[in-house]
Amino acid sequence: MAVIENIQFIEKEIEGKGVTLVAVSKTKPVEMLMEAYNAGFRRFGENYVQELVDKHELMPKDIEWHFIGHLQSNKVKYIASFVSLIHSVDSLKLLQEINKQATKNNRVIACLLQIYIAEEDTKSGMTEEECLEIMKAETLEKLQNVRIVGLMGMTTLTDDETQIRKEFKKLKDFYQTLTFNPQRLPHPSLTILSMGMSGDYGIAIEEGSTIIRVGSKIFGGRIYQK
Ligand SMILES: *Cc1c(COP(=O)(O)O)cnc(C)c1O
Repeated sequence: MAVIENIQFIEKEIEGKGVTLVAVSKTKPVEMLMEAYNAGFRRFGENYVQELVDKHELMPKDIEWHFIGHLQSNKVKYIASFVSLIHSVDSLKLLQEINKQATKNNRVIACLLQIYIAEEDTKSGMTEEECLEIMKAETLEKLQNVRIVGLMGMTTLTDDETQIRKEFKKLKDFYQTLTFNPQRLPHPSLTILSMGMSGDYGIAIEEGSTIIRVGSKIFGGRIYQK
Protein backbone atom coordinates (compact mmCIF):
# COMPACT_ATOMS: atom_id res chain seq x y z
CA MET A 1 0.00 0.00 0.00
CA ALA A 2 1.10 3.53 -0.69
CA VAL A 3 2.19 5.86 2.09
CA ILE A 4 -0.82 8.11 1.83
CA GLU A 5 -3.28 5.22 1.92
CA ASN A 6 -1.63 3.95 5.08
CA ILE A 7 -1.91 7.40 6.67
CA GLN A 8 -5.55 7.72 5.65
CA PHE A 9 -6.29 4.27 7.06
CA ILE A 10 -4.83 5.19 10.46
CA GLU A 11 -6.43 8.67 10.44
CA LYS A 12 -9.78 6.94 9.95
CA GLU A 13 -9.12 4.55 12.84
CA ILE A 14 -8.34 7.42 15.23
CA GLU A 15 -11.05 9.80 14.00
CA GLY A 16 -12.99 11.43 16.82
CA LYS A 17 -10.74 9.96 19.52
CA GLY A 18 -8.73 13.09 20.28
CA VAL A 19 -5.55 11.42 19.06
CA THR A 20 -2.92 12.98 16.78
CA LEU A 21 -0.83 10.93 14.36
CA VAL A 22 2.88 11.61 13.95
CA ALA A 23 4.33 9.79 10.93
CA VAL A 24 7.75 8.47 11.95
CA SER A 25 9.91 8.85 8.87
CA LYS A 26 13.40 7.98 10.12
CA THR A 27 15.63 6.35 7.49
CA LYS A 28 12.98 7.02 4.78
CA PRO A 29 13.78 9.16 1.73
CA VAL A 30 12.34 12.65 1.20
CA GLU A 31 10.37 11.35 -1.80
CA MET A 32 8.30 9.15 0.49
CA LEU A 33 7.64 11.98 2.92
CA MET A 34 6.69 14.23 0.00
CA GLU A 35 4.00 11.73 -1.04
CA ALA A 36 2.36 12.31 2.32
CA TYR A 37 3.05 16.05 2.17
CA ASN A 38 1.47 16.41 -1.26
CA ALA A 39 -1.66 14.73 0.05
CA GLY A 40 -1.87 17.33 2.83
CA PHE A 41 -0.03 15.59 5.68
CA ARG A 42 2.27 17.86 7.71
CA ARG A 43 3.46 16.02 10.84
CA PHE A 44 6.64 13.95 10.80
CA GLY A 45 8.78 12.40 13.53
CA GLU A 46 12.53 11.89 13.24
CA ASN A 47 15.14 10.20 15.45
CA TYR A 48 18.47 11.47 14.18
CA VAL A 49 19.57 15.12 14.29
CA GLN A 50 21.54 15.17 11.03
CA GLU A 51 18.75 13.42 9.13
CA LEU A 52 16.18 15.83 10.53
CA VAL A 53 18.32 18.85 9.62
CA ASP A 54 18.74 17.56 6.06
CA LYS A 55 15.05 16.83 5.59
CA HIS A 56 14.05 20.18 7.09
CA GLU A 57 16.34 21.91 4.61
CA LEU A 58 15.04 19.98 1.61
CA MET A 59 11.33 20.04 2.39
CA PRO A 60 8.63 22.76 2.57
CA LYS A 61 8.72 24.96 5.65
CA ASP A 62 5.16 24.44 6.89
CA ILE A 63 5.94 20.97 8.23
CA GLU A 64 5.60 20.24 11.94
CA TRP A 65 8.78 18.35 12.87
CA HIS A 66 8.76 16.16 15.97
CA PHE A 67 12.02 14.93 17.45
CA ILE A 68 11.47 11.52 19.06
CA GLY A 69 14.92 9.91 19.33
CA HIS A 70 17.64 10.08 21.95
CA LEU A 71 18.92 13.67 21.88
CA GLN A 72 22.47 14.59 22.85
CA SER A 73 22.82 18.00 24.48
CA ASN A 74 25.55 19.11 22.08
CA LYS A 75 23.22 18.63 19.11
CA VAL A 76 20.23 20.61 20.33
CA LYS A 77 21.54 23.73 18.61
CA TYR A 78 21.01 22.24 15.15
CA ILE A 79 17.25 21.76 15.56
CA ALA A 80 16.32 24.51 18.04
CA SER A 81 15.28 27.02 15.38
CA PHE A 82 12.53 24.90 13.89
CA VAL A 83 11.57 21.79 15.89
CA SER A 84 7.87 21.72 16.95
CA LEU A 85 7.93 19.22 19.78
CA ILE A 86 10.75 17.24 21.42
CA HIS A 87 9.26 13.99 22.78
CA SER A 88 12.41 12.56 24.28
CA VAL A 89 13.69 14.82 27.07
CA ASP A 90 15.35 12.40 29.46
CA SER A 91 17.35 14.64 31.81
CA LEU A 92 17.40 18.07 33.41
CA LYS A 93 20.72 18.74 31.70
CA LEU A 94 19.13 18.22 28.30
CA LEU A 95 16.16 20.41 29.22
CA GLN A 96 18.53 23.18 30.31
CA GLU A 97 20.36 23.02 26.99
CA ILE A 98 17.06 23.12 25.06
CA ASN A 99 16.11 26.18 27.11
CA LYS A 100 19.43 27.83 26.28
CA GLN A 101 19.15 27.18 22.55
CA ALA A 102 15.47 28.18 22.51
CA THR A 103 16.42 31.48 24.15
CA LYS A 104 19.06 32.10 21.48
CA ASN A 105 16.40 31.52 18.84
CA ASN A 106 13.86 33.66 20.65
CA ARG A 107 11.43 30.75 20.92
CA VAL A 108 9.66 28.66 23.48
CA ILE A 109 10.16 24.99 22.64
CA ALA A 110 7.48 22.49 23.62
CA CYS A 111 8.88 19.35 25.27
CA LEU A 112 7.69 16.03 26.62
CA LEU A 113 9.50 14.27 29.43
CA GLN A 114 10.27 10.70 28.45
CA ILE A 115 9.42 8.38 31.30
CA TYR A 116 11.01 4.98 31.69
CA ILE A 117 8.17 2.44 31.74
CA ALA A 118 9.62 -0.68 30.07
CA GLU A 119 10.93 -3.71 31.90
CA GLU A 120 14.13 -3.76 29.89
CA ASP A 121 17.07 -1.42 30.14
CA THR A 122 17.49 -0.71 26.44
CA LYS A 123 14.84 2.03 26.45
CA SER A 124 15.89 5.46 27.62
CA GLY A 125 13.91 7.83 29.76
CA MET A 126 13.77 9.17 33.31
CA THR A 127 12.20 7.75 36.42
CA GLU A 128 9.03 9.23 37.92
CA GLU A 129 11.14 10.66 40.75
CA GLU A 130 13.44 12.47 38.31
CA CYS A 131 10.39 13.81 36.51
CA LEU A 132 8.83 15.12 39.73
CA GLU A 133 12.10 16.83 40.55
CA ILE A 134 12.05 18.67 37.19
CA MET A 135 8.36 19.56 37.50
CA LYS A 136 9.03 21.59 40.64
CA ALA A 137 8.23 25.28 40.29
CA GLU A 138 11.75 26.33 41.37
CA THR A 139 13.26 24.34 38.52
CA LEU A 140 10.80 25.41 35.85
CA GLU A 141 10.96 29.09 36.78
CA LYS A 142 14.53 29.14 35.50
CA LEU A 143 13.50 27.56 32.22
CA GLN A 144 11.29 30.20 30.62
CA ASN A 145 12.00 29.11 27.04
CA VAL A 146 10.82 25.55 27.33
CA ARG A 147 7.28 24.44 28.02
CA ILE A 148 6.69 20.93 29.28
CA VAL A 149 3.41 19.91 27.68
CA GLY A 150 3.26 16.22 28.53
CA LEU A 151 4.93 12.84 28.80
CA MET A 152 6.22 10.18 26.43
CA GLY A 153 6.85 6.51 27.01
CA MET A 154 7.90 3.36 25.19
CA THR A 155 6.86 -0.11 26.25
CA THR A 156 8.90 -3.28 26.47
CA LEU A 157 9.41 -4.95 23.10
CA THR A 158 7.07 -7.90 23.57
CA ASP A 159 3.94 -9.53 22.12
CA ASP A 160 2.46 -9.81 25.59
CA GLU A 161 -0.54 -7.49 25.40
CA THR A 162 -1.12 -7.62 29.16
CA GLN A 163 2.41 -6.40 29.79
CA ILE A 164 2.10 -3.58 27.22
CA ARG A 165 -1.25 -2.47 28.62
CA LYS A 166 0.14 -2.49 32.15
CA GLU A 167 3.02 -0.21 31.10
CA PHE A 168 0.76 2.25 29.27
CA LYS A 169 -1.57 2.30 32.29
CA LYS A 170 1.34 3.10 34.55
CA LEU A 171 2.30 6.07 32.40
CA LYS A 172 -1.30 7.30 32.23
CA ASP A 173 -1.63 7.04 36.03
CA PHE A 174 1.53 9.03 36.54
CA TYR A 175 0.40 11.60 33.97
CA GLN A 176 -2.84 12.03 35.89
CA THR A 177 -1.01 12.44 39.17
CA LEU A 178 0.97 15.28 37.62
CA THR A 179 -2.01 16.88 35.89
CA PHE A 180 -4.12 16.90 39.04
CA ASN A 181 -1.41 18.49 41.14
CA PRO A 182 -1.38 21.92 39.51
CA GLN A 183 0.30 23.58 42.50
CA ARG A 184 3.46 21.88 41.36
CA LEU A 185 3.41 23.68 38.04
CA PRO A 186 3.83 27.33 37.22
CA HIS A 187 2.01 26.56 33.95
CA PRO A 188 -0.65 23.87 34.24
CA SER A 189 0.14 22.89 30.72
CA LEU A 190 0.16 19.11 30.51
CA THR A 191 -2.06 18.05 27.63
CA ILE A 192 -0.04 15.44 25.72
CA LEU A 193 0.53 11.78 26.38
CA SER A 194 2.72 10.42 23.58
CA MET A 195 2.46 6.64 23.57
CA GLY A 196 1.86 3.97 20.96
CA MET A 197 3.80 2.83 17.86
CA SER A 198 2.91 0.62 14.87
CA GLY A 199 2.51 -2.53 16.95
CA ASP A 200 0.70 -1.16 19.98
CA TYR A 201 -1.08 2.11 19.20
CA GLY A 202 -4.52 0.46 19.48
CA ILE A 203 -3.83 -0.47 23.09
CA ALA A 204 -2.17 2.91 23.71
CA ILE A 205 -5.30 4.76 22.58
CA GLU A 206 -7.50 2.61 24.80
CA GLU A 207 -5.21 3.55 27.67
CA GLY A 208 -5.40 7.29 27.01
CA SER A 209 -2.75 8.22 24.43
CA THR A 210 -3.13 11.59 22.69
CA ILE A 211 -0.22 11.27 20.23
CA ILE A 212 0.73 8.07 18.45
CA ARG A 213 4.10 7.75 16.70
CA VAL A 214 3.73 5.38 13.77
CA GLY A 215 6.57 4.47 11.43
CA SER A 216 6.69 1.05 9.80
CA LYS A 217 2.91 0.78 9.43
CA ILE A 218 3.06 3.86 7.20
CA PHE A 219 6.42 3.69 5.45
CA GLY A 220 7.20 -0.04 5.63
CA GLY A 221 10.02 -1.76 7.49
CA ARG A 222 13.36 -0.05 8.00
CA ILE A 223 16.76 -1.20 6.85
CA TYR A 224 19.61 0.20 8.90
CA GLN A 225 22.97 0.71 7.24
CA LYS A 226 26.27 1.51 8.87
C1 LIG B 1 11.05 4.32 15.45
C2 LIG B 1 10.20 4.86 16.53
C3 LIG B 1 8.80 4.86 16.43
C4 LIG B 1 8.06 4.19 15.30
O1 LIG B 1 8.18 2.81 15.37
P1 LIG B 1 7.30 1.82 14.46
O2 LIG B 1 7.26 0.58 15.22
O3 LIG B 1 7.99 1.72 13.15
O4 LIG B 1 5.95 2.45 14.33
C5 LIG B 1 8.08 5.47 17.44
N1 LIG B 1 8.67 6.04 18.51
C6 LIG B 1 10.01 6.07 18.64
C7 LIG B 1 10.61 6.73 19.83
C8 LIG B 1 10.82 5.47 17.66
O5 LIG B 1 12.15 5.49 17.82
